[in-house]
Amino acid sequence: MKIGKNRISSSIIVVVIMMTLVIGIGGIYIRYMRGRYDTIQKKEINHETNQIVKNVKKQIDDNFYYLEYFSKNISDTSKLNCESEVDRIKSVMTGEKFYLIGMADKDGNACDINGDKYDISAEEYFVNSMNDEYVITDTIIDGNKKHNIYSIPIRHDEDVVGVLYAKKYTEEIERSINADDMEIEEDIWVVDSDGNIIFDATGRDKPENKKIRTHNFVDKLEELGNSKRTIDELTKAFSADEATFIKIKYHKSKIAYVKPIDVNDWKIITIMSYDKFNRYKAQSLDKTNQLVYIFAIIYGATLLVILVLQNRNRKKIEHIAYVDEITGGKSFTKFKDDVDKLIKNTSDDYALVDLDVDKFKYINDIFGYEEGNNVIRFIWREINNIMETGEVFAHYRADQFVLFLKANDMDHVIKRMEMLSLTAQKRGVQKEKNYEIILSIGIYPVDRKFFNIDTAIDRADLTKKSIKGKHSKVYAIYDDTLRQKELRDQEIENMIEKAIKDEEFKVYYQPKYNSSNSELAGAEALVRWYNEECGMLFPNEFIPVFENNGFIVELDEYMFEHVCRDIRKWLDAGYNVMPVSVNMSQLQLYNARFIEEYTAILKKYDVPAEYIQLEMTETTLFSETDALIETIDKLHKAGFKILMDDFGTGYSSLNMLKNVPVDILKLDKSFVDDIGDAKGDIVVSTIVSLGQLLDMKIVAEGVETKEQYEFLRDIFCDEIQGYYFSRPISSEEYMKEMTKGAL
Ligand code: C2E
Ligand code: MG
Ligand code: MG
Repeated sequence: MKIGKNRISSSIIVVVIMMTLVIGIGGIYIRYMRGRYDTIQKKEINHETNQIVKNVKKQIDDNFYYLEYFSKNISDTSKLNCESEVDRIKSVMTGEKFYLIGMADKDGNACDINGDKYDISAEEYFVNSMNDEYVITDTIIDGNKKHNIYSIPIRHDEDVVGVLYAKKYTEEIERSINADDMEIEEDIWVVDSDGNIIFDATGRDKPENKKIRTHNFVDKLEELGNSKRTIDELTKAFSADEATFIKIKYHKSKIAYVKPIDVNDWKIITIMSYDKFNRYKAQSLDKTNQLVYIFAIIYGATLLVILVLQNRNRKKIEHIAYVDEITGGKSFTKFKDDVDKLIKNTSDDYALVDLDVDKFKYINDIFGYEEGNNVIRFIWREINNIMETGEVFAHYRADQFVLFLKANDMDHVIKRMEMLSLTAQKRGVQKEKNYEIILSIGIYPVDRKFFNIDTAIDRADLTKKSIKGKHSKVYAIYDDTLRQKELRDQEIENMIEKAIKDEEFKVYYQPKYNSSNSELAGAEALVRWYNEECGMLFPNEFIPVFENNGFIVELDEYMFEHVCRDIRKWLDAGYNVMPVSVNMSQLQLYNARFIEEYTAILKKYDVPAEYIQLEMTETTLFSETDALIETIDKLHKAGFKILMDDFGTGYSSLNMLKNVPVDILKLDKSFVDDIGDAKGDIVVSTIVSLGQLLDMKIVAEGVETKEQYEFLRDIFCDEIQGYYFSRPISSEEYMKEMTKGAL
């Protein structure tokens, strides 16, 4: 539950992080866009301001042009006659371009069209024009009127000989600064570098603005309550060569754009409302803002849905991977993970315990799978009851359980295992179904330094197998003997490759005889392994190893091929060849191509299938699946006879005899050993007659004594195999045996 909650909160954290990220990225984007809009907006303002400046300058230029026109028409510049020239100008002056025009000689003696005479030699505009400059003065306030003086030099040849000047009402220029068709400007000013107002194009539509309260723009802003910082910025802008944007308080919060206009030291100031300035920006960015939030919400919601679904899927997968289907406990995968963690994070001694139920298959087969599962669940609960903190366990497979127990005190582990075994045994008795649950328990004390879970399980399993079937002991602890066996098995594994290469595997034949007349009836092929160092090895030593590593499949084929080769040799030599039975491991049934491979070998040596019998152990045949029956049918079709080996050692169900179509029943040595005992005799003779009634041939194996042989002969057991007649012998010896048979 805790894990689930953690997952949910981590999902929420992921969603929150992702949403914050989206909003963050959106914020950065908006900032970027704001910057871009700002630039665009400023460019736009600059562009429009330039238009106004152009307009103002054109007005001024026009005025100079007009003056120039008069200067060019002065009749005699070598000797200026002020009055007559001025009169002439007056007579040709049209419109109201200037309200006054005058002229001065180089000493500043001036006369104007009003007939007034005065000295202007001290006027700055006069001095500058005498220096060959075109001058427009700052705005001069004259009562209620404002005007500017325009002055230009009068030249004679290359020399300036006088000055032509004119006065023009400032208002006329102000009026002409028409910004009505401009997009953004509200109020326009032209000021000098001290902030003195030159042109005031404000309030074109607002007569109340007309009244000039102050003649300095800085004073005006001070009056309007601008901060010192703004004022400083402004004064700086007035003396700067570059254009500046300044946030000002001008009734409301506004933006002032201050730019030099290239006339005197004048600057133009365009003022617009903040809203207007931000108009484009606000509109588009508001939308972007909304979009970012909508996107973030949709994104977050989608992400949440995905995470919730993923979480659900993960839980499902985890459930499949981490939960055992039958018990609802940990799966083997989870067990391995947990063991890994325990090994890494603790310093305790541990033991890996492997346990299973003896003859579990029997419980399954007799009482059904559900009962089998009940037993597994019961054992799971019982193990769970004895678990301590820092320990884990799981149902591994079939009836097998693996436990990882603290083993600082091994006696405690043993005590718990004995208890578990006792409880399990009792449960079987208590149930109305009459069977006992006998546990086999293998304990492997873990070596932390070389810990590998698979090896640990293998060792615990090996330990367990060492006591399988020995009901006197419920547990075993991995020790030196087992270690030796493990090493020996490993040695055997390492020897396989060389054994194949050097053909160290030999086929031995153990003859079978007709019980009625003691004549040779055939043989069983048994493998022997000759190794230079180890001498002769017997199957019980290496077959389990081969069964484990799968090599048995190859060995069976090897044996089959050598038997076929021998039979071909014997047939060619004219022997009276009897059928040879070849052992076949259960694993062979999982080899999909084995029937084809075996028939191909028969073909290769041209051996008729009737010479071969395939021995399958009772356990193999006990699976009794449809697939197995189908395989046997195919083998029958290919001409092979099927022999059930070791009959009576497993959990033979008589039903199996009915369902699995075997041809020959091989009575296990354990039954033969019981001959002589009254009950044993009954069992053996009953099995023999039952087999015969089911149309099967009966072979008795492990016959060692005359009594056994005679008993079997008397109850009409078909064939006898055992030391009484012959031990397994080499093929050469068997050939001699065949000759005897033929005699
Ligand atoms: P099995 O197929 O039941 O073979 C009979 C075993 O009983 C043989 O042991 C044989 O030597 C032994 N035996 C025969 N008569 C007597 C007797 O009178 N007294 C006693 N005490 N034993 C007797 P072996 O050859 O050691 O083989 C043991 C098992 O190994 C075989 O049991 C069979 O299951 C397996 N095996 C042998 N060769 C092969 C093989 O080529 N392939 C496979 N898959 N298994 C093989
Ligand atoms: Mg056999
Ligand atoms: Mg046998």
